Amino acid sequence: MKKTLITGAAGFLGSHLCDRFIAEGHHVIAMDNLITGDLKNIEHLFQLERFEFHHHDVSTFVHYGGDLDYILHFASPASPIDYLKIPIETLKVGSLGTLNLLGLAKEKNARILVASTSEVYGDPLVHPQNEDYYGNVSPIGPRGVYDEAKRFMESITMAYHRYHGLDTRIVRIFNTYGSRMRLNDGRVVPAFMGQALRGEDLTVFGDGSQTRSFTYIDDQVEGIYRLLMSDYVEPINIGNSDETTILEFAEEIIKLTGTSQKIIFKPLPTDDPLQRQPDISRAKEILDWKPIVHRSEGLKKVYEYFKSLSPEELHQKEHRDFSHLNGK
Ligand code: UDP
Repeated sequence: MKKTLITGAAGFLGSHLCDRFIAEGHHVIAMDNLITGDLKNIEHLFQLERFEFHHHDVSTFVHYGGDLDYILHFASPASPIDYLKIPIETLKVGSLGTLNLLGLAKEKNARILVASTSEVYGDPLVHPQNEDYYGNVSPIGPRGVYDEAKRFMESITMAYHRYHGLDTRIVRIFNTYGSRMRLNDGRVVPAFMGQALRGEDLTVFGDGSQTRSFTYIDDQVEGIYRLLMSDYVEPINIGNSDETTILEFAEEIIKLTGTSQKIIFKPLPTDDPLQRQPDISRAKEILDWKPIVHRSEGLKKVYEYFKSLSPEELHQKEHRDFSHLNGK
């Protein structure tokens, strides 16, 4: 039986990956420090013998006693609101966390896949973004803590591959949505859906002309799985090329939810990328992968999920008090 360590396992992507690797017959070792993750995302797996959970911060030394075949490093705050609140934790998990897991992969002779992001392209000057584009990132802006940590992650991963011959994979994840996103994490899908469900106006940042391309979780997990099982070591974009402006997206959510609320405009956050669309030719060619879930279909499913949450969850504005964190 293959043994797979997943970090950030109690988060949105991590928990769906746990489900997928359990379904593939693996023994899954799930690790999370539960700063932004939530055990409720994986509690259904606790009864399985092939599942174990370790409450651990991977920015500190990571120990695992047994053998490992695969490591998937998905631990990181991943929404702009979260990494603005816990910038130092974000920097640490992308840099020190990655270093620790590369070391563990080397020790165990395991294959490691690291979760990078479209944020490595920053506010892109090339459109759509292909993997050869180096990006346009401000190292000192508010998003720099995430973007630069992920760029370092890619750099050190390639160094371990080249210097130690480590078996590595790098996925660049574009905006992904699905069940188990935190309603209060500030990202646009839960933000708009939460507002519609609470009967609040939808907050569009800037004039809403900035674009994003949204990928449904099942497509994202399939792309990541195929990349892990491939022999390709350079970064690969996994995303959907169906691009929309945020204003059109807000109108789409109003239609879907039937809310009678209106759109209101708020200031555009610093360094908010103006346009984002993945070039997915590489994933198509190398992984024989492409997204298959249309946005209207995926959004319906995730809206059903948000509707099923309790009134307390729906109205909880703050996730947790992060004030004791940040580098301590
Ligand atoms: N956004 C918005 N209203 C919100 C939340 C987000 O207009 O209440 C915009 C945000 O400015 C960005 C886009 O939606 O242009 C996607 O934001 P998100 O935080 O989901 O992810 P990003 O792609 O910026 O990392």
